[in-house]
Amino acid sequence: STPVLQLDSLERHFTASGGTVRAADGVTLTVGRGEVVGLVGESGSGKSTVGRCAVRLDEPTGGTVRINGTDVTTMSRRSLRPLRKDFHLVFQDPSSSLDPRMTVGQIVAEPLRLHGIAKGEAARARVAELLAQVGLRPEHADRHPHELSGGQRQRISIARALSVDPALLVADEPTSALDVSVQASVLNLLADLQRDRGFGCLFITHDLAAVEYLADRIAVMYLGQIVEQAPTAELFADPKHPYTQALLSAAPVPDPVTQRTRERIVLSGELPSPLAPPPGCRFHTRCPLAVDRCRTEIPALRTLDSGREVSCHLVADDGTAPDAAAPRPA
Ligand code: SF4
Ligand code: MG
Repeated sequence: STPVLQLDSLERHFTASGGTVRAADGVTLTVGRGEVVGLVGESGSGKSTVGRCAVRLDEPTGGTVRINGTDVTTMSRRSLRPLRKDFHLVFQDPSSSLDPRMTVGQIVAEPLRLHGIAKGEAARARVAELLAQVGLRPEHADRHPHELSGGQRQRISIARALSVDPALLVADEPTSALDVSVQASVLNLLADLQRDRGFGCLFITHDLAAVEYLADRIAVMYLGQIVEQAPTAELFADPKHPYTQALLSAAPVPDPVTQRTRERIVLSGELPSPLAPPPGCRFHTRCPLAVDRCRTEIPALRTLDSGREVSCHLVADDGTAPDAAAPRPA
């Protein structure tokens, strides 16, 4: 069936004082109906840019964005409006997306009204139902966002996003601004709602435990590009790309077979600037396994025999991959 989100060679370049920032630089990614795709990578890797382009909050400068098969890449805001009910973004910090002058009831009801789905008594009943679904009480409808906790505010932005039953939810770090003590309950809520309603979800995060819990498939970004893509269990069991290996080695997730945690791979240096990505493999300046070829030749993101995707010169088509935790002697 048609994917709910289909990004093809998505680009988002913009001009800054130092030149052209390549925030997203050729990202190809799909989210199937009812599928949760995790997008992970360091901050500055372009994850949020991809999420914002996917819901047309940022304008792509190249490539295409399709929602439910419809090309929305260059659609005007006006023609986009009726389609808006199909896709929503939940932000990291709910306070920035909730109008402080509106009551919770008005905030949750607004999309219903804008899309002509319900008004008056019907809208009020629907709001009460949505509030219950996100674990809030009917009385919360009369409060203002500032009277609520961070966790409650995030529940409200989820209720608002889901009020019109979107086919796609883009969730950008939906729990990272919350107290650690409430992060798990908001993640559980998202997981429950996703299972019940079956919306497709692009889940953007740097929280590897969260993505392992929620996502069916994971795409790993580095400097504006996807470097590896695989089903969640396969990626965690056997990361192929040296960057993915380093990323996972920083998280205390024991190997499912040996129950040992991975040897920590500490990357040297900072993430290079997206103003001037390194030539060849973008990761070569920090890769413990880099060889001469990596400095000049761009590794294509290619499909392995198993169907997984990876962009590294040293990974063979049969999936044989070197271990970045044990680099060869120079
Ligand atoms: Fe490292 Fe080279 Fe593979 Fe890039 S292509 S990840 S630099 S080994
Ligand atoms: Mg971000």
